Amino acid sequence: MDVVIVGAGQSGAWVARSLREAGHQGDITLLGREPHAPYERPPLSKGVLSGAEEHPPVLLGPQQCVALRVDFRPGVEVVGIDRTGHRVRCADGSAVRYDKLVLATGGRPRALSCPGADLPGVHALRTIEDCRVLARKLVPGNRLLIVGGGWIGLEIAATARHKQVEVTVLEAGTRLCARSLPPRFSAFLLDRHRREGVDVRLSTTVASIESGRERALAVQLPGGPEEFDAVVVGIGLALDTGLAEACGLEVRDGIVVDQTGQTSDPDIYAAGDVANQPNSWAGGRLRCESWANAQNQAIAVGRAIAGGEVAYDEIPWFWSDQYDLNLQVLGVPSNELEGTLRGSAEEGAFSVFQISEGRLRSVLSVNAPRDIKVDKRWLKQGACPPPEVLADRSVRLDKL
Ligand code: NAP
Repeated sequence: MDVVIVGAGQSGAWVARSLREAGHQGDITLLGREPHAPYERPPLSKGVLSGAEEHPPVLLGPQQCVALRVDFRPGVEVVGIDRTGHRVRCADGSAVRYDKLVLATGGRPRALSCPGADLPGVHALRTIEDCRVLARKLVPGNRLLIVGGGWIGLEIAATARHKQVEVTVLEAGTRLCARSLPPRFSAFLLDRHRREGVDVRLSTTVASIESGRERALAVQLPGGPEEFDAVVVGIGLALDTGLAEACGLEVRDGIVVDQTGQTSDPDIYAAGDVANQPNSWAGGRLRCESWANAQNQAIAVGRAIAGGEVAYDEIPWFWSDQYDLNLQVLGVPSNELEGTLRGSAEEGAFSVFQISEGRLRSVLSVNAPRDIKVDKRWLKQGACPPPEVLADRSVRLDKL
């Protein structure tokens, strides 16, 4: 049985690795659009952008490909899927036959739709090339406009402030990271970024961009035009579901898969940012754009294809590093639950435990990674100590 994987990001690479580790004997062909071996993306907005790291960690280098017998083909764009003939068609006219196909196509940064959005100097951050181009703009005294107060925008803001760049962040919504954080945490982040000197403007976006006089770009903002040396857009991901749609797979906020990662075609699977899968922790279907999901869901798909362990139902978890803050979110936070506080924002380390009907539902922590470790166990067990115990910092949670 031969497997073809389309997309050589975090997910694609982990499908290939786990297939072989689970004993798959047939061919594994990994097709990636980027010219590089698969690499980790999280350092792109942090260590690689700041210059502290030269290259992000490689997930499947040439030696591993030889050892695992993975035929990795970089710079290949798949343009169509022939489900009847079990083939994918590539942009260069070639075709690759499959018995099982995995779509790990992820997405591309959503672009602004305003006039001037495609001018030189307007950047996105998804690939190593994007990162290198943007890094050259992060010089002291430069003015950087970040459109989007989500994860990518805030991580870039923190890195840019570290490089003494003047940073303005525009967020169209009324608070930061509104899709993934409850209001209390959005407020905490807003306060921290403002104290670091970031000019955060909520309920604001860009009307148009044109060439500037003093700096590269003049941006039309609600208060009038302002000039910047660069603009970076982090307004979410446009999913690469085109191949799936064109060949008639079910697509609804991502490629619809079952708990094994299988799509509406039993010979095609999907994993990572594009996969929309049932998840009991979310109480329904979930499409999760996180590093941990891209890896673990892909491992499960590799095992499922190899005939091993099947159902994937992990607790959603992600983290972000900004300034000296390590933020972690476990579970699916609710905007309605207030939560029990352990520690305090003033001390710079705290966790908020969201509990309902005696069960721990989610935990958000800042500089408290040990809390997250024990919480994972409690979430799985459906157990939870009483709120007054959680709030008591003289109690060691790992001893409970
Ligand atoms: P994101 O986290 O979804 O944030 C995008 C933000 O931009 C949202 O707050 C959105 O508001 C806002 N927005 C949308 N249109 C806008 C406009 N025209 N003007 C101003 N603001 C606008 O997406 P992202 O930051 O672009 O990140 C891309 C992907 O990388 C995501 O999947 C993200 O999870 C991932 N990533 C993850 C991490 C991490 O886990 N640490 C770090 C970096 C990136 P609305 O929600 O109201 O639309």
